[in-house]
Amino acid sequence: MIPGPVEFEPEVLAALAGPSSSHMDPDFARAFGRALGRMRELFGAPSGQPFVVAGTGTLAMELAAANLVEAGDRAVVVNTGFFGDRMGRILERLGATVEHVRAEIGGVPDLAAIERAVSRGPCKVLAVTHVDTSTSVLAPVEAIAKIGRFHGALVLVDGVCATGGEAFRQEPWGVDVCLTASQKAIGVPPGLALVVASAAAMTAWRSRKKPVASLYLDFGEWLPIMESYERGTPEYFATPAVNLVAALEVSLGRICVEGIDARAARHERVANAFRAAWRALGLSVVPKGDEISAHTMSAVWYPEGVDASFVARAREQGVVLAGGLHPEIKTKYFRIGHMGAVDASDTVTTVAAIERAMALSGRRVELGVAVGAAQSVLTR
Ligand code: PMP
Repeated sequence: MIPGPVEFEPEVLAALAGPSSSHMDPDFARAFGRALGRMRELFGAPSGQPFVVAGTGTLAMELAAANLVEAGDRAVVVNTGFFGDRMGRILERLGATVEHVRAEIGGVPDLAAIERAVSRGPCKVLAVTHVDTSTSVLAPVEAIAKIGRFHGALVLVDGVCATGGEAFRQEPWGVDVCLTASQKAIGVPPGLALVVASAAAMTAWRSRKKPVASLYLDFGEWLPIMESYERGTPEYFATPAVNLVAALEVSLGRICVEGIDARAARHERVANAFRAAWRALGLSVVPKGDEISAHTMSAVWYPEGVDASFVARAREQGVVLAGGLHPEIKTKYFRIGHMGAVDASDTVTTVAAIERAMALSGRRVELGVAVGAAQSVLTR
């Protein structure tokens, strides 16, 4: 129950364990093509250009940033934690001048502050992390994207801890590039970087003054490949991670069958059950308000008398949780991923293990109260 890699469905793992087909095989090409089509559906970007490249979420960040930004461009980062810092570092390496708009830990910067930063000068890219995995803060992406578009910036969303779990519609919301990775709410083991670019993002890339410095990151190398797989006549640039792509096709197929809205609603119900459990245990969370709390994960402060050894205790109780990540509060909180295939039973099992681990950590806990609170939400 960590915020990625998550638990994977048996059908997805079976696809991963199948024979490694040729990347030029017609059946593989059709599967890759279907996966790209399903990305458009999941992201809510019917006219977007999907890219699937072997690499992690950080590669997806670099892929998105490297194609949009050139040396000397100005970029604004809406910073809600560790991954905002990382996006800033990537943009700086590309030669951009980066302005971070930060909030205190657990908060989201004011929209007015974001607007001031974006309008201070020409702004090529406005970047935001949909859910920052170090704080579990959910950013109001739709409102932020509106500001970016109004001021002519390309809107870049890091959806690594959100896409496939949080409500998100790329085109209606006016997002230019959304990126994610396979190992979280997409439901596929680590190793794939997923990006969908809008028509405006592709135009910005085409109008670059200089080509992208990295060959592997250049949309220009990957675009004909993605198009070739959608046509069913594969072409080669660099060997795709064929088994991961096969697993991606299966997982995206399941996601589309569940339905994008139904999936977001399930994540919301599970998140509400966890919130009820935290309240019942008298625990507070890092985000400063329900409206900016993720539905894909929780970040929970340790109560008085409980320390970071709690994570090992929870493991002894059968549930793997994650420790802190944000450098300023690392030892003061723990994190739980509740995304992907997580259902009511996983939720109740996890809450029960947390109750026992809290009790064994010396906290006075009335066993069953948090389970009961979660159950009430799950039966509503
Ligand atoms: N962005 C966010 C919001 C993330 O949660 C992560 C991974 N936890 C990344 C980017 C980077 O992904 P990866 O670890 O796969 O490189």
